[in-house]
Amino acid sequence: MKYIFGNWKMYLNHEESVGLANVLKEIKVEDDVKLGVFPSALAMSDVVQTMKESSFVVGSQDAGFPEKGAYTGLVSAQMFKDSGCTHTLVGHSERRHVFGETDEDVRKKLEASIGAGLVSVLCIGETKEDRDNDKTEYRLKKQLMKALEGLEFNGAELILAYEPVWAIGTGDPCFSDEAARVINLIKEDIKQYQSQEVPVLYGGSVSEDNVVSYVSLPEIDGVLVGGASSKSDTFTGLINNAVT
Ligand code: PEP
Repeated sequence: MKYIFGNWKMYLNHEESVGLANVLKEIKVEDDVKLGVFPSALAMSDVVQTMKESSFVVGSQDAGFPEKGAYTGLVSAQMFKDSGCTHTLVGHSERRHVFGETDEDVRKKLEASIGAGLVSVLCIGETKEDRDNDKTEYRLKKQLMKALEGLEFNGAELILAYEPVWAIGTGDPCFSDEAARVINLIKEDIKQYQSQEVPVLYGGSVSEDNVVSYVSLPEIDGVLVGGASSKSDTFTGLINNAVT
């Protein structure tokens, strides 16, 4: 199975999100490809409706961990589930590094997502400073341990995304051979927390031009795409290149 997931971040308003969903829903792929989009909370219900009969799964970009109550501005994992989406990103680098989410917050969000019955796409990745100081493996292992140690999966599906922070939105991707090397380390490490195989995607400046270099490698189970997923021409081009 190869995954091609698009994180629309805060690039698209409601109308633009539904417009893009209307274009993408026409794309048909073989059963061994899984497509997905992650729209804003505001557009979620309408994108879910638009994508209903399509090849796309739909997920949230984040989900609050409290179940209900006096949490101004939050949308809970259960609320997203109720809106009809099936997946959620957890611990995206912009949540960690722009909004200061800690490994502990990420753990709580993962538990809430599992509790709500969403498929979690857990994002991990080292900073440039980590990499320069030979701490890539340390950072990834720590993020995995904090998120997964002792976690009750209860049959929940988990997907990982290896997204080096320095590669996200920079146009400076981690080349595919290095991404595959790191993903192998992640797959080895995760065995202590989860006996089932966990797909690991690569994310960080994936484009129409470089997507094949990732999806053609057996170690890399797909891609999580930000900027290039927010426009119909680049995302359809990227998907076409990846599946042909
Ligand atoms: C992302 O948002 O997960 C991402 C990888 O962004 P970009 O493709 O823009 O680097």
